[in-house]
Formats: sequence, C-alpha cells, structure tokens
Amino acid sequence: MFVDKATIEIKAGKGGNGAVAFHREKYVAAGGPDGGDGGRGGSVVLVPDPNMSTLMDFRYKRKYTAQNGMDGGGKRCTGKDGEDLIIKVPVGTVVRDAKTGQIMADMAETESFVAAKGGNGGWGNSHFATPTRQAPRFAKAGLPGVEREITLELKLLADVGLVGFPNVGKSTLLSVVSKARPKIANYHFTTLFPNLGVVYAGEGRSFVMADIPGIIEGASEGAGLGHDFLRHIDRCRLLVHVVDVSGSEGRDPVTDFEEINAELEKYSAELASRPMLVCANKCDIASDEDIGRFEEYIKGAGYEFFRISAAAHTGVQELVNAISEKLSQLPPITVYEPDFVEAEPELGSDEPTIESDEGYWTVDGGWVDMLVQNTNFTDYESRMHFDRVMRARGLFDKLEEMGIAEGDTVNVCGLEFEYKR
Ligand code: GDP
Ligand code: MG
Repeated sequence: MFVDKATIEIKAGKGGNGAVAFHREKYVAAGGPDGGDGGRGGSVVLVPDPNMSTLMDFRYKRKYTAQNGMDGGGKRCTGKDGEDLIIKVPVGTVVRDAKTGQIMADMAETESFVAAKGGNGGWGNSHFATPTRQAPRFAKAGLPGVEREITLELKLLADVGLVGFPNVGKSTLLSVVSKARPKIANYHFTTLFPNLGVVYAGEGRSFVMADIPGIIEGASEGAGLGHDFLRHIDRCRLLVHVVDVSGSEGRDPVTDFEEINAELEKYSAELASRPMLVCANKCDIASDEDIGRFEEYIKGAGYEFFRISAAAHTGVQELVNAISEKLSQLPPITVYEPDFVEAEPELGSDEPTIESDEGYWTVDGGWVDMLVQNTNFTDYESRMHFDRVMRARGLFDKLEEMGIAEGDTVNVCGLEFEYKR
C-alpha cells in the first residue's frame, strides 16, 4: 500500500513550572528568592529523510507528542528542557496546517522544520525580586506547547515525469536509463510505488526521472488508482508521454495518447500544459506504417516525437539527450512557498488586577500574565508587540483613568517599567 497523504496530530511539550524557593545558608536568617526557571518543552521537528519514499508510517501512528520541560528547583536550578521529537518525512513532503490548508513548509530544501514549538518554561521567583518586593512568593507556570493537526503531502522531487497507460514500458525505460530497478511486469497496475531514478546525460549533466503508477482511464472519476498519483508529478518540469505504438494490447496509440491527456487535463489544466515530449515505445514490434502514422499525428499536434524501444535500448540515448537539452531551458523545480500565519497565543479575557501605592503601580494576573510569558524581552520586535497589545487592550487608558503620572513605576507581573506616555 502506497500512502502519499496523511494527517497527523502533533503536540509540543509544556514548559516546566518556575520554582518558589529561598536561599538558605547557615547563620543567614532569610535568604533571597532563588527559585529556578522551568525547562522549555520539547518541540516537534520534521526532518527530511532521503531514504523514505512513502508516508505509510503515518497511517499507523497518528499522534506525536514531545517531552515536557522539567520544573525549576531551588538554588536557581533550571529545569531540564524537554527533548525535541524528531519526525522523519520523505524529501519533498509538503507540510500544511490541517485546519487552514496553509503551507507551513516544503521539505524539499529545508534541513529541519519546527512544526510545533515547545512551551517556554515559567520563571522561578528569583526573577521577580525587585527593589520593593524582595521576597516574592510566586513563580510562573510553564506555557503549554503548540498543538496542531498537520497534513503531509508527498510531492516527489523529479525533473521528468513519465506518463502513459500501464504496460506501455515506462518502468522498463526508467530501468534502462537509470540505476532504478522498478518492477517490470506484463500486467496493469504494476507500479504501485513511484520510482525515482537519476539519469546521467553525459558531461556532468544529470536529471531525476520519476516513473509513476499508470494513469488509467476514468482516474479523474475515482476509478482504479485514482488521481492521487498525479500529485507526484506536480513538480515535474517536463512530462514524457510514453505510448505503446505497437498496439500490442489491441489499443490504438492515438486514442491512448488523447485519453491520458484528457486525464491530466481533468486533474489540473496547469499540469496538462506542462512541456511534454512524446515517445513511441515498442518500436521493435511495431510496423513502420503504424509508427509513421502516429508520428504524423503527434508532430501535427506540435510535439517533439521520439521512436524508441526501451527493451532493445534503441533510440534511448537520443531521447535522454533531448530531455537533458529541454530541461536546460526550463525553470527549476517548483518549491512551495510557505503562506502559513501562526495564530497569536490566546491571552484570554481575564483582566489583571491593578494596585497603586504612591506612584508605584502593580499589574498582575489575567491576560497580562500570559502576555509577559509570551514575550521575549531581549527581542525588540517582541517588546514592541508587548507594548502594542497592552495599549490595544486598554491597559494604559485604565492606568490613566486611575491617575498614573509620567515617571511612575509600573510593575507588570514582576517586571518594572517606567511609565511614559
Ligand atoms: P509500465 O507499466 O508502463 O511501467 O510498463 P513496463 O515497463 O512494466 O512494461 C510492460 C511490458 O512491456 C513488459 O513485459 C516489458 O517487458 C514490455 N516492454 C517494455 N518496453 C518494451 C519494448 O520496447 N519492446 C517490447 N517488445 N516490449 C517492451
Ligand atoms: Mg510500471
């Protein structure tokens, strides 16, 4: 069974909780807060693996969870980070957010992709010691890791896709021009896995050719192997249409050619308009008259035409040279650009508490708490975002209403800021 599309649930680890602890030493009555931070939750990371050629594994295992971070401890001991969970996927897998369908990554070029980020660890109470609050008895809980459903779609990385009816000799051709050893057999539905082969065209020129399962008539209506397999040639820069010109199966080459093109068209007009070379195979057992008739028709339709016999290896080198030449004029393999927009973390609607004491304002809890935990204060963009959200949510207006003055100190969840209008 070949699987080329799968939806899985991934869940990154939760951050560990920050610790509440106080420094203890002999003869020292009350030490300062020294609770360490929680460790970061493990992320779920996708890594392309050139040895994988199917998404079959994902049919049996659908849930993937990374490790949680450990809680912080005393003596400023930071909790251990959760281990990342590595998921191997075939090269060329396109990753989408299942909910929106947006593309998150194309594993064609990426070395690794963090598909779900682990939650940050909560801060221990040592972070919250301020000039006015020397002994904070609180720490922050770790944040939950990202949880989402993703869809994996296998889109092979091949320059050339072989299309044509079953049994016309596609697998034979691939085995003759490359080291790939696809199954060759005299019955329909032979190729159930796409096969890739590297073809050397001389002078350091090479390209990748894919033999995909035969498209059969009615595939677009869901018959037989269906259209899903056409997904594999989505990226191909050039299609090579292989036709059995001998009519060895009692079929007519012109009808075959038109039927396959009609199937391509039904699947995707764009795919049908991809550059295409036509090669008449099994010339060793076809009459010159039949070949000539087909050639005339194909050339009349405006395609480049090649006579070959994959089995007898005749005409094959000419075909390889022509493919190589054609590819040199075509744009590179399509890489899917991500268009995924990460949703903002949910801050919730619980309002923070605000207390004031002679120009010292304490804002704590509620959404502000979530905001602080989601802000990286060493990062400018993140700090700006922090500011914008506080403004947008009306916190500054509220402080103004309550009589805050320029230059007052605002303690937001343990962090002190000077208030500026
Ligand atoms: P595919 O289904 O298109 O991949 O076709 P295969 O490569 O599996 O070939 C189907 C059958 O056609 C096999 O029995 C091959 O040996 C035979 N075949 C392939 N190419 C030629 C050819 O050039 N001449 C002849 N006479 N037979 C061929
Ligand atoms: Mg085959």
